[in-house]
Amino acid sequence: MRTITLKTGEERRIRRGHLWVYSNEIADDLLKYEPGEAVTVLDGNGHPLGSGTVNPHSLIAVRLHSRAAGEEPDKEFFKRRIDTAWRLRQRLGLGNVCRVVHGEGDGLPGLIVDRFDDICIVQHTSVGMDIRRELILEALDSLFSPVCVVAADDSPVREVEGLPLQRSVAGDAPGDVHWVELDGLQIPVDLTEGQKTGGYLDQVFSSRWVASYAKGMTMLDAFSYTGGFGLRAAARGASSISLADSSERALELARQAFKRNSLLEPRTVKADLLDRRQDSFAGESFDIVICDPPPLVRSKKKFAEGLKAYEMLFTAALNWTKPEGLAALFSCSHAVRQEDLEEAVRRAQRRAGRRLLRLALLSAGPDHPVAVSHPETDYLHGLLVQAN
Ligand code: SAH
Repeated sequence: MRTITLKTGEERRIRRGHLWVYSNEIADDLLKYEPGEAVTVLDGNGHPLGSGTVNPHSLIAVRLHSRAAGEEPDKEFFKRRIDTAWRLRQRLGLGNVCRVVHGEGDGLPGLIVDRFDDICIVQHTSVGMDIRRELILEALDSLFSPVCVVAADDSPVREVEGLPLQRSVAGDAPGDVHWVELDGLQIPVDLTEGQKTGGYLDQVFSSRWVASYAKGMTMLDAFSYTGGFGLRAAARGASSISLADSSERALELARQAFKRNSLLEPRTVKADLLDRRQDSFAGESFDIVICDPPPLVRSKKKFAEGLKAYEMLFTAALNWTKPEGLAALFSCSHAVRQEDLEEAVRRAQRRAGRRLLRLALLSAGPDHPVAVSHPETDYLHGLLVQAN
């Protein structure tokens, strides 16, 4: 295995546990490395820091997958790492529907694996993982024997790595939509045009929690996708559910899901909820409002603009919330930290003329572990507030 050497003094962050080396921190000529090549990373004095894979064309030039020198990411490595990640999920009693691999959080930078019973949905978001997809497939086969593995490689983050957007299936896909059971409910997983990996497992814990307050309540689930929040709230006795999303396909799957679970018929509203010129729920108000938009801060450069978008959207969400009602306000933008979200909510409170009480901080569940020395894995933040 070849080595790659950092500039003198650039090793501190890595020694503290961060897993990315940026291109400007490297002393060697990056172009002499193959995309995805495994290397031993050395500090400026030649001491090993660990093993990683290189992307000579990305700002994140090396992603470390091991603290040991010379660790080849081979089939045994993937089996070991995925097995360790799976043992954590089993220890947490999560069953066969959960995120099995959460990238850096599970020591597998650039790899996401969601398990929906006998189907695995995989995302390769670094070139190091992309060129090893066969090894990953073999490891998943030997651990879970899935009937099919879908590579959902159509996420725009791949473009930053210089990787093509594509979707492929290994094995026999059971049609376009795969239904799985979670919390006694039938949940759809969209295998074809699904967003992310076809189902938002990161909101399972928050939606359970919010649903526990839903009995007898009216709920607006804004940016509902296939209705995860609304479905659980209906199952817990909500009196009416309104789902709003710009995707007709997502709303159609949501309607099917409510029917399949013999729940009330939801009202579905296809709308662009980010268009400030129109307010789809003007003059209406609900006991509980969920507001779970797509990432509105796409890059650090556009941070201020994106945070303003959150402020305006949350203002609308508070206007849709009854006095003394509850609102769950989320950001899944990687560049937005918990305190940034709170700032946007504070400004929205002023704009909407309300007084908010924070009841809980919300985040992804424990099947999305955060490596505490690598905070980039902590992307989903939310606040549950009472809006007085
Ligand atoms: N809350 C969902 C996940 C939401 S993901 C769950 O728990 O499953 C974000 C959703 O926002 C997607 O379904 C996407 O279709 C929708 N969306 C994106 N842009 C939108 C817009 N401008 N208006 C309304 N919905 C939008």
